[in-house]
Amino acid sequence: MKLTPPALAYRYKDALYLNITSKCPTACEFCIKFSWDYQYRGNNLLLKKEPGVREILEAAGDLSTYSEIVFCGYGESTYRLEEMKEIARALKAKGAKKIRLNTIGLGNLICKRNIAPDLALFLDSVSVSLNTSDPETWVKVLHPLPEYREKGFESVCGFIRECAKVIPETYVTAVEGIEKDPKKFSALVESLGAKVRLRPYLDDYENS
Ligand code: SF4
Repeated sequence: MKLTPPALAYRYKDALYLNITSKCPTACEFCIKFSWDYQYRGNNLLLKKEPGVREILEAAGDLSTYSEIVFCGYGESTYRLEEMKEIARALKAKGAKKIRLNTIGLGNLICKRNIAPDLALFLDSVSVSLNTSDPETWVKVLHPLPEYREKGFESVCGFIRECAKVIPETYVTAVEGIEKDPKKFSALVESLGAKVRLRPYLDDYENS
């Protein structure tokens, strides 16, 4: 497969996705970046370096045809929380209708504080990929870096709880097939004040 230059912003359906980092605190077994070789529906998402705020905004371009803007590439956007704030502020000024973050939920451990109030300044929606109600399964399936193994699951649950207090929409996602007790998972998510969203496992490379 011939590699195209990295995409900093890419369309999927009627949303615009922003690819601001390739750095990740986990190596999730279900992550399509490994099987799809960092490609996503015709876009190369492997960043050689982290793009600047201006580069991201230039790549985003005209926002008028998008129903929402999503921070989501093949990395964890909260590593770049300060840049996210700047980007979001500029996007809102350019008329962005809705801003969402897709995250693995480790932002509080990454930034060493509760970042939900910061995110609430610019997010309309957050989607946290938790996948299981069982801390051991979380470690086994998500393969977090050593510094996140012990407190990761607990911290993600705390992050969800804090987001649900201050962000208009907080969803918690699970890739189908990982959680063996869906009722327990739903109960956990509801106890954190969020809503469950199941999503299918993607495997075959799609180039649509
Ligand atoms: S956090 Fe996202 S990008 Fe990182 S390994 Fe997991 S699924 Fe892939």
